[in-house]
Amino acid sequence: MRILLQGGTVVSAEGTAILDVLLEGERIAAVGENLSSGDARIVDCTGKLLFPGFIDGHTHFDLEVGGTITADDFATGTRAALRGGTTTVIDFAAPDKGETLAAGLARWQEKAGGHSACDYGFHMTIDDWNEGISREIGEMMNQGITSFKMYMTYPAMMIPEGDMYHALLRLREAGGITGVHCENDGVIRALIADAKAAGQTGPGSHPRTRPAPLEAEAVGHLLRMAQLADVPVIIVHLSTRESLEEVRAARRRGQTVYVETCPHYLLLEDEVYDNPDFLEAAKFVCAPPIRKRTDREALWEAMQNGEIDTVATDHCSFTTAQKRAGQYDFTKIPGGLPGVEHRGVLLYTCGVAEGRIAAPDMCRVLCENPAKLYGCWPQKGVIAPGSDADIVVYDPETEGTISAANQAQHVDYTPYEGMRTRGSIAQVYLRGQLAVDHGQLLAAQGRFIRRGKCGL
Ligand code: MN
Repeated sequence: MRILLQGGTVVSAEGTAILDVLLEGERIAAVGENLSSGDARIVDCTGKLLFPGFIDGHTHFDLEVGGTITADDFATGTRAALRGGTTTVIDFAAPDKGETLAAGLARWQEKAGGHSACDYGFHMTIDDWNEGISREIGEMMNQGITSFKMYMTYPAMMIPEGDMYHALLRLREAGGITGVHCENDGVIRALIADAKAAGQTGPGSHPRTRPAPLEAEAVGHLLRMAQLADVPVIIVHLSTRESLEEVRAARRRGQTVYVETCPHYLLLEDEVYDNPDFLEAAKFVCAPPIRKRTDREALWEAMQNGEIDTVATDHCSFTTAQKRAGQYDFTKIPGGLPGVEHRGVLLYTCGVAEGRIAAPDMCRVLCENPAKLYGCWPQKGVIAPGSDADIVVYDPETEGTISAANQAQHVDYTPYEGMRTRGSIAQVYLRGQLAVDHGQLLAAQGRFIRRGKCGL
């Protein structure tokens, strides 16, 4: 099966060019001017932007949080991802404390295997540290699990600093890379206790108990440990101006620090928590919380300067019925936002169409950088001969409106309800197969991606 995508504007991180793209089977066979079609089916892409399939390096599907399970599992979450142009997701396998990494990985392979509509991989969560787990790091690397995750908050996940330091040393030796959730847990717990003692139990207490300085403090704290361990790290879901300053300081010292942020930190502001309607405010509860306008502006500036390496969603969806669990106690609101379906169109609308960034910048943060960072370049993240034929055909001329009423995400709201969008995803190809046509999902079968070492 050969398909010739003719006359589209091919986007890479370096620039754009009007080129034909020939897909053959699961791969891209050729990219060039006036390619001969032969027996290929011709698709006119004039006026369309052709991006490599987007990669979302941060999703949580089928995850149990505080006694409830995310609204999206791998079946629904990856279908929503595809509809939004995301052809590869990297989710988080998480062993329970006391379990082996292998047990955690097996459980997540089970959750995704046969159910995932787009390609997928896993980061491995290190929520415990001992000799057995240290040995297992090498085994994970061999199985294509080359990135890891650690938490500085959440008692169920966090590990002591000495263990974190030893884990960083082991990852340096094995060539693995880790993303870290940076928030100062102890002070957050104190602030939560104070808020509850004062009877402040509504969702407005959520951002007040997780203030910006406590993220920056943890970022700085981690980066000093990483400096000593002499190992690169990823700051996941960085949300504040002050955290960026910590990253800049570390980079000036010569450290390699990668930064991920998320659409909700680029687009939303903390006034969302002021809504007197419990559910309207609870919809936005996530950690770190939605920040202030100055943070949002600082993040866009960092995007323009190339200081942010990737934009991922941290998709972790709960229905409003699930959010209601925290009606009388904000700490019982399951934390997380849906977003896997809308990242591409949001970044195009608020980034490219509004002139904050150019299409190649969008390609860099959604495609090329995550592919390199997570060791699947050039299989993914680029439109080039030999790469997987994962292609997003983006029509910049249309307009739309984001609404829960027409989303595939298995949740009854979106944080971006009513937002007018510029451009839309016309088609998505997953390894050469048409998976989405004008919003309509076709049959698609994802595959586990065995990743190599970080190449960014
Ligand atoms: Mn997350």
